[in-house]
Amino acid sequence: MKNCIFCKIAKGETSAEVIYKDDKFIAFKDVNPKAPIHFLIIPKKHIPSVNHLKTRDKKLIGELFLVAQKIARKQGVAKSGYKLVFNVGKGGGQLINHLHLHLLGGWTSPTHHPTIKERDIPGMP
Ligand code: 5GP
Ligand code: ZN
Repeated sequence: MKNCIFCKIAKGETSAEVIYKDDKFIAFKDVNPKAPIHFLIIPKKHIPSVNHLKTRDKKLIGELFLVAQKIARKQGVAKSGYKLVFNVGKGGGQLINHLHLHLLGGWTSPTHHPTIKERDIPGMP
């Protein structure tokens, strides 16, 4: 898709800190990270958002999660835990209209996590 920054990254026309790539996906560091580890995993195919997924994309989306799992393992956050987030549409905070899965993690302890309070942690009084 013309004028899509993530299509340009996928084609190597715009630079990004790429951490993973295969024939269908590419993952790179978010330019404005919201966590110690913040990657964006995208299909090379231009799909604007989750709202635009078709039945034919079923396999691709399944594979996207397996890529996320692989990256989490490689980057050392599989054990400690991480977040996978899709923002969908303007109201969901989506700024770039090319489907992307945020992988966020690397907080030093669960209590440093921005959305987890101590009382939410199993075993805590
Ligand atoms: P959204 O809000 O659309 O779900 O997330 C878009 C993300 O892309 C944001 O976290 C933003 O920091 C990141 N981003 C926007 N433009 C670029 C770019 O040109 N390169 C990289 N690496 N990340 C970008
Ligand atoms: Zn695109």
